[in-house]
Amino acid sequence: MDTKTAARERFESVQDRLTELSHRIHSHPELGFEEEQASTWLCESLADAGFSVRKGVCHLPTAFLARAGSGPLHVGICAEYDCLPGIGHACGHNIIAASAVGAALAAAQVADDVGLTVSVIGTPAEEVGNASGKILLLERGAFEGIHAAMMVHPAPFDMLRAKIIAASMFEVHYTGKESHASAFPELGVNAADALTVAQTALGLLRQHIRSADRIHGIVTNGGAAPNVVPAHTSARYIVRSETLEQLTDLRPRVYRCFEAGALATGSKMEITGGDKPYAEMRHDEAMARLYRRNSESLGRTFPNLGEWETRPTGSTDMGNVSLAMPSIHPMIGIHSLPAVNHQPEFTAHCVTSHADEALADGALAMAWTCIDMATDQTMRDRLMARS
Ligand SMILES: [Zn+2]
Ligand SMILES: [Zn+2]
Repeated sequence: MDTKTAARERFESVQDRLTELSHRIHSHPELGFEEEQASTWLCESLADAGFSVRKGVCHLPTAFLARAGSGPLHVGICAEYDCLPGIGHACGHNIIAASAVGAALAAAQVADDVGLTVSVIGTPAEEVGNASGKILLLERGAFEGIHAAMMVHPAPFDMLRAKIIAASMFEVHYTGKESHASAFPELGVNAADALTVAQTALGLLRQHIRSADRIHGIVTNGGAAPNVVPAHTSARYIVRSETLEQLTDLRPRVYRCFEAGALATGSKMEITGGDKPYAEMRHDEAMARLYRRNSESLGRTFPNLGEWETRPTGSTDMGNVSLAMPSIHPMIGIHSLPAVNHQPEFTAHCVTSHADEALADGALAMAWTCIDMATDQTMRDRLMARS
């Protein structure tokens, strides 16, 4: 039996269990860094399959490392399993997690035949926007010794190389002074007005930014009562640019808009976070070509998506991984249109038969890509030359 058939048979032997695992994670959504159940279930599945598993690595209780095989080429498959506040698994990370386990089990079946070590890196909190799982795991050495990394991410349609941009999330806090809003307004310092001035300045700034730049946020505290001058307000914002380099130029301009609010009202301002931004994704062309071929051999297609091919999408900490080592992050379609990621309608689409097919196809396409990477001498030499 050839190695790809052996990998496929291994996947098919666990497919039902992994589909159930995907649905279980979906029905127990957990926020970033709180994914206790999901990380435990994933570790159990990997340990049952003979992987050596370490949970709670790098001082992150819901991160884990699971490894099988002993070949010289070491490929890491990233699992994400956090949800979004209020709308559950609206980004389909249940599919990412189960497909990562499926890919690893299938590749592990032939790892020693093709000279491969395969790891699943359990990466918490992809949705938090700053200092997320992969960024902390990279800093703390969890990716050391890994030559290349991959994952698949659910989307409305298959897309090999989405244009994933850099992002920085931060919190702004204004402090003013309370007063009776009608009887003694002259004694108050209005921290809500500071936010209004900042948002007006941001609106004007939009004329003068690049087309891929993004500035968006929410007010997390707008005051306590209309008859009390608000003394404490806060907001959470994300600034995005095509690259980390462009972000370093845009971010101070955005901060100045918030400073304008403080200056105009006499409030004090503090900015927290924003210190560990998400990088742009650099797709490894050769790995992407292998993934595409494997995915197409499973019957998937990569249609020409017109402007979708070049328009900026979201951001992910997989971008940071891709700057550290050759990586791919293909989007895998779940036929959800008109529903798109981060809508509650998309949440419902992440446990359909199309979602379960995406889990299976993503797992197999990744496993087969690992096998191709291990058996293509040019690729193998290039990846191993880095260590
Ligand atoms: Zn998301
Ligand atoms: Zn996501």
